[in-house]
Amino acid sequence: MAKGEPVQMMEIHVPDPGPGEAVVTIQACGVCHTDLAYRDGGITDEFPFLLGHEAAGVVESIGEGVTNVAVGDFVVLNWRAVCGECRACQRGELQYCFDTFNATQKMTLEDGTPLTPALGIGAFADRTLVHSGQCTKVDPDARPAAVGLLGCGVMAGLGAAINTGGVTRGQSVAVIGCGGVGAAAIAGAALAGASSIIAVDLEDRKLEWAKGLGATYTINSSEGDVVEAIREATGGFGADVVIDAVGIPLTWKQAFYARDLAGTVVLVGVPHPDAKVPEIPLLDVFGRGGALKSSWYGDCLPSRDFPMLVDLYQQGRLDLDAFVTEEIGLDDVEGAFMKMHKGDVLRSVVIL
Ligand SMILES: [Zn+2]
Ligand SMILES: [Zn+2]
Repeated sequence: MAKGEPVQMMEIHVPDPGPGEAVVTIQACGVCHTDLAYRDGGITDEFPFLLGHEAAGVVESIGEGVTNVAVGDFVVLNWRAVCGECRACQRGELQYCFDTFNATQKMTLEDGTPLTPALGIGAFADRTLVHSGQCTKVDPDARPAAVGLLGCGVMAGLGAAINTGGVTRGQSVAVIGCGGVGAAAIAGAALAGASSIIAVDLEDRKLEWAKGLGATYTINSSEGDVVEAIREATGGFGADVVIDAVGIPLTWKQAFYARDLAGTVVLVGVPHPDAKVPEIPLLDVFGRGGALKSSWYGDCLPSRDFPMLVDLYQQGRLDLDAFVTEEIGLDDVEGAFMKMHKGDVLRSVVIL
C-alpha cells in the first residue's frame, strides 16, 4: 500500500492484549472520510495503515489490569480513551483530554511490518487490538452497524450541536453541509429541542435526508446567498447556533454572518491544511459578540455520551439507522470510498 493506492485485503497478526489492552471482535465498521484521507496520505506518512474506526463489536480478550470492560461485552470503539492526568483531565474536562490512550503493542502484517491503525483503532478487520479505554460498553441489543457510527462521524455531528453548540429547547440552528456529520448535527439539534433547524447543502438529495432527521427548513446553497436565506428563515436575525460541517473558508464565513447577535459558530468540518480564516473586520468579531468554537469529535466523552445515545436510539428517539445507507463486505471498501466521494451515501458500513 502506498499513497493514494487502492486499499488491499491482507492477513494481519493481532497480538494478545497486554496490560490495559483489549482485543475486540468487530461486527460492523463505517467508512469515514478520515479513512480516505489516510489512504491518500493526508494524515500521516506512516504506511501501511489498518483503516476503519467507526466500529462496534464484542470484547474477545482483555489484558492485565483491565476493569472497565469484560470478555463478552458489546462495545462501541472510540478514539478518546482519556488519560485522567493531563491538564484538561485534572480540571475535570475529560472531553478535551490532551493525552488519549491507544494500544501500546503493534498489530503487524504477516512479515512483521508494523501497521498504523486509523485513529488508533483499525477496525476493517475481523478483530483489532485497542486500549481498553477505547471500548465503551453499550446496550447489547442495539444494531452494531448503527451504533458503531457513534465511534466517529455521527458523534462528531451530534456533539457539535449538543455539546459544543450547547443547543437548547426553542433555539434556531443552521447546519451548513449535510453529509454524515452535518446530518448528525441536524439530528442532534432536533434531539436537543431546537424549534427551527435549517439545513444547507448544494444537493437536494442531502436536503431530503436532512428533512428526515429533523430539518424544518432547507436551503439549496447553489440557488443564492446562503447568509440572506438563513436570515430570512429566522425572522431576519440569523440563527442562534450555526454549525459549519464543511470546513472551508467560504462556509465558515457564511456561518459567521448567518448567526444572530451573540450567537455561536461551531466548526466541525475538518479544514484542509492550507485553508485560512477568511478576512473579517475585527470590529465585526467584537460587535457581533457570541462565540466562535471548534468541535473535535463533538467534544464527546465516550463513557458519558455513547451509552446515553444508544439508549435514545433503542427508545426510537434518535434514528441512527438513517445513517446506514448500505451494508457492504470488507472487500467493498474501495467502492464505498467512491460513493462517499460522490456524496451518494451518508455511510456505507462494513459488516464482518
Ligand atoms: Zn487527559
Ligand atoms: Zn471518522
